[in-house]
Amino acid sequence: MKRKNVAIIGSTGSIGINTLKVIDQFPEQFQVVALSAYNNCDLLIRQIKKYRPRYAAVSQQQYEKIKSRVDAKRCTVCLADQDLAMIATLPQVDVVILAMRGSAALAPFMAAVKAGKTVAPANKEALVVAGDLLIAEARRTGATIVPIDSEQSAIFQCLQGQNRGELKRVLLTASGGTLLRVSSSKFDRLTVEEILSHPRWKMGAKITVDSATLMNKGFEVIEAQKLFGLKANEIRVVVHPQAIIHSMVEFIDGSVLAQLASTDMRLPIQYALTYPQRNSVRLPALDLCAIQSLTFEEPDLKRFPLLALALEVAKKDGSLPAVLNAADEVAVEAFLNRKIKLTKIFDVVSKVVKKHRLVLKPNLQEVLEADQWAREETRKLI
Ligand code: MG
Repeated sequence: MKRKNVAIIGSTGSIGINTLKVIDQFPEQFQVVALSAYNNCDLLIRQIKKYRPRYAAVSQQQYEKIKSRVDAKRCTVCLADQDLAMIATLPQVDVVILAMRGSAALAPFMAAVKAGKTVAPANKEALVVAGDLLIAEARRTGATIVPIDSEQSAIFQCLQGQNRGELKRVLLTASGGTLLRVSSSKFDRLTVEEILSHPRWKMGAKITVDSATLMNKGFEVIEAQKLFGLKANEIRVVVHPQAIIHSMVEFIDGSVLAQLASTDMRLPIQYALTYPQRNSVRLPALDLCAIQSLTFEEPDLKRFPLLALALEVAKKDGSLPAVLNAADEVAVEAFLNRKIKLTKIFDVVSKVVKKHRLVLKPNLQEVLEADQWAREETRKLI
């Protein structure tokens, strides 16, 4: 069997690191041809030495440092700010793992889709901001999108071999985040550090805050809407604190299929890498008898108004998801820099969303304009 050539955009973050762990288990199946990072230079250098990619991209500030430490004959060093689309479309690349965060992932995502590659996005922003454009382009070129986000991977897996027309709705599960059992009167007394101590997953700071406010789940609703061509009312969020069921699909006959697994990102990463096959895995098996019970509850939209706002945005769609994403990014950054309180994120983001003049079927230019406009408006409010 020919080895699959993999490009990892964002190789030094948690998804990138876990992708390399999966590849370590199956060296006969995968070859790393390109890596990209931004500022984590030391780790990137270690990765380059170990995996010997043909290309590596970094930020402008780290460029000289990386260049001086790798063998130029073996690895071409390029710039993350301008060359990610080139990396994602290298003729030898089979699978692009899109593990970087932020809407800058849109450029390599779109380029890879245009080139008909298999793209495995862990990044939410690109799909939230320009999901319709990405999916339309994938349809045109035959590119395959296999999501890595655990909920989207669950839905994707549940839909394999099914007739899409028989899907009634998606039940998107949410672990509930750090604030699930905290009274909303205490939200603003929590420190940034307390918010960042997520009980289940170690993730980046931005996504951990979004998990606490359930904004992350809101983005996932929009992401699912785009990936699977659903209307907003065909997605229901279900709080499931054990996080064993990663999402479910309900068919028109009332039958519900669920995907269950222990909470380890290596599983959806591995699935995306090996799709449409599955590999046997050396992770601990799911022990349902040890877990004993799986529980479900309605999300509390009063305590988590950002989720309610995201559901509203999903319904109106158009350029609004781009506005929601940009406003939240700026507001969460202000929270992490201790400039605003946690509940202020909603105040600011909802004001910007309300003020936006909706563009119904935005093209790429209009999406980027909405993004820019929302960033400026949010900064003014903070
Ligand atoms: Mg998720």
